[in-house]
Amino acid sequence: MTRTVYVNGDYLPEGDAKISIFDRGFLMADGVYEVTSVLGGKLIDFEGHAVRLKRSLDELEMAEPCSKEELLEIHRKLVALNEIEEGLVYLQVTRGSDGDRDFVFPSADTKPTIVLFTQNKPGLADSPAAKKGAKIISIEDIRWGRRDIKTVQLLYPSMGKMMAKKAGADDAWMIEDGHVTEGTSNNAYFVKDGVIVTRPLSNDILHGITRKAVLRMAEEAQMKIEERLFTIEEAKEADEAFTTSASAFVMPVVEIDGVALGDGTPGPIAKRLREIYLEESMNAAI
Ligand code: PLP
Repeated sequence: MTRTVYVNGDYLPEGDAKISIFDRGFLMADGVYEVTSVLGGKLIDFEGHAVRLKRSLDELEMAEPCSKEELLEIHRKLVALNEIEEGLVYLQVTRGSDGDRDFVFPSADTKPTIVLFTQNKPGLADSPAAKKGAKIISIEDIRWGRRDIKTVQLLYPSMGKMMAKKAGADDAWMIEDGHVTEGTSNNAYFVKDGVIVTRPLSNDILHGITRKAVLRMAEEAQMKIEERLFTIEEAKEADEAFTTSASAFVMPVVEIDGVALGDGTPGPIAKRLREIYLEESMNAAI
């Protein structure tokens, strides 16, 4: 089955979709994105992703390509057309193109580019990786200073992921000024003596939609949470650790820089939070 994608108002077979070579997303990484997961053919936390998209666009003074209602309709139509039961919807908005390359933003009436496509991921919820847990390495965080805006500047996170693969690990956590910021594509947590520790929100990390939901659910389950800076040494001495993201939900971490956490298998708090998150978010999916 050929995948149907959405480009600037049209639903097209993926091979027919085209973007200008002058698009600022291509030339300058002048674009933002969202990834929404699909479980049981329904969208998980669409509202959170739509609100963060608006925030990212506002921070970059970029025009909204369409209303939230239209965005929901496009998501739903692509999920239906591509028969996605479990998977992801990727959305990207760029500042578009006025037909040339210039550091100055094009005039405000330049139409933004909007692209969406689905990724079919059967078994996303019942993932073997989550049962095994992830191995993490730590690397220096050399990204720009506005990581709260979900831009498509993903070269360094992608390099970080490759550094992890080369080291025989699954992912990397980044460190700035001696403190862990986040994972290459997820927020980072460790658990010590029953307390969940994660970095507080600021411009230094992405304000994860899954982070917000998981922290709320942890609080409702009477778990203790501390939002504070932490070092990789603290995380290595933890009882357990995990990450959160829309594409992997709650992912247990079992090893950091070659040091096994606890007994080297997914910890009870990470496993419980994954269960709660999947159950609650599937019930609330639209
Ligand atoms: N941090 C970074 C750097 C990310 O790229 C992502 C997701 O792509 C996250 C955190 C998790 O955010 P969310 O839970 O909204 O997927």
